[in-house]
Parts: sequence; structure tokens; C-alpha cells
Amino acid sequence: METVAVILAAGSGSRTGLSTPKQFLPLSGKTVLEHSVQTFNDHPGIDQVAIVTSTEFIEKVKDIVKRNDWTKISAVLPGGKERFDSSLAAVRHFSDNPELVMLFHDAARPLVSEQIITDTLKAMEKFNAVDVAIPAVDTIVQCNPEGTHMESIRDRSLLWRMQTPQGFRQKTIQEAYRIALQDPDFKATDDCGTVLRYLPQEKVGIVHGSEKNIKLTYAQDLPLLEFLLN
Ligand code: C5P
Repeated sequence: METVAVILAAGSGSRTGLSTPKQFLPLSGKTVLEHSVQTFNDHPGIDQVAIVTSTEFIEKVKDIVKRNDWTKISAVLPGGKERFDSSLAAVRHFSDNPELVMLFHDAARPLVSEQIITDTLKAMEKFNAVDVAIPAVDTIVQCNPEGTHMESIRDRSLLWRMQTPQGFRQKTIQEAYRIALQDPDFKATDDCGTVLRYLPQEKVGIVHGSEKNIKLTYAQDLPLLEFLLN
């Protein structure tokens, strides 16, 4: 099984309220991005690592690559406005390798573990699409678009919180996006959702994640990440 980890680092991170995108914020002497890349680079089941970042940060990322002793970086690619544009940049870059197993990971989840990557790769032996997720601990309610009143509450025991990595055969995620892009109403905050919606015949496997695999979203997440890391 040939594998690539795609580290998605093209977001602006506006929810942190800081001017630096969250993947470039410092965490225990390195950037958040470096922690994420390091774990995939060091994993024996990962053959290549591709980093997707916004055009203005391509040189910065190339400098980061130079100053680390990573051995598996095969591409630094320009991302896009939405997260799925960034994923698509990588899907297209590897279009000559339909059997390639692609693990998409949020650069903003620097505490991804070796075990999670191992479990994701194992699940890819059985499925063409998998997601790391954890059971929901809070009750989740669907509200009206304005967020002023509740509409419905789903059975919590069936609800899971999605994390990354999300794994796909290149041909599977490419086909899902080919169909999705013909839908004028298409929108996505992750790649598994695109497969679920546009390739309903594909079963998307679940891999148990970890409460530690948090996504840096708000500035106050940084001290927690620092604490968990140490
Ligand atoms: O915005 P969100 O928290 O969902 O971002 C998750 C990950 O996706 C982050 O690591 C971010 O850098 C990345 N992303 C991206 N391209 C975008 C938006 C987000 O690579 N256009």
C-alpha cells in the first residue's frame, strides 16, 4: 500500500483572533505545523508527506522544510479559499496514482499520535474512505440558521465528533469531488462528507481517535495543547 500524508495548512485561522494563521503559531519551541508534519514523517507506514498552504506562505513553508530533517516531503502545494479547495489541490496533484492511499490531516491538530495513524492505515485495508472520530460527549442540537431556537436533537449515542486524519484511495476522493463540483449547492467542511454525500455506495469506516487530538481553533486552546504535549 503506497501512502501519502497531506497536511492541510492553508487556513487563515480567523477564529483565533490572532494575525498569524494557527498552523504557524509557536507550540513548545516549534510551529504547530512542524509538530503535525513530524509525526507523519516519522511514521513507518507513511511514504510521502505533502504540505498544502496558501500562496503567500509557500516560501515560509519551504524554509520550515529546509530547517527540519524531514525525509519524506514530496510537495509543497498552493491551497485554496475553502478547506476542500486545499484538499482538491492534493487530489489533483496525485491524479496519476489512483491506488495511492491519501491521509488528509489538519495541520492544526498537532497532537495526532502514531497509534491513530497506524489504525487509520489499517482501516484503509478494508475501506476506500475512513475517518478518525470520537463519540460525542455533549448533546448536540440542530438550530435554525440564525441560532435563535432549537429544531431537533439527535440520539447522542449515534453521534460522533470527526477529527483527522481522514483516509481515501486517490480514485475514491477524486470521483467524489468530480460529482460534487457539478452540484451548485456543494459545500463541505471535510472530505469524508463529500464521499458520504456523493458516493453513497462507499462505506466510510470509523477509526477511534483521541480526546487529545484537538484542533487548535481559539487562542485559549494553545495553553491546553502545551500542557498535553508536555
Ligand atoms: O478552518 P478549519 O479549522 O476547519 O481548518 C482545518 C485545517 O484545514 C487547518 O489546518 C487549516 O489550515 C486547513 N485549511 C486549509 N485550507 C483552507 C481552510 C483550512 O488547508 N482554505
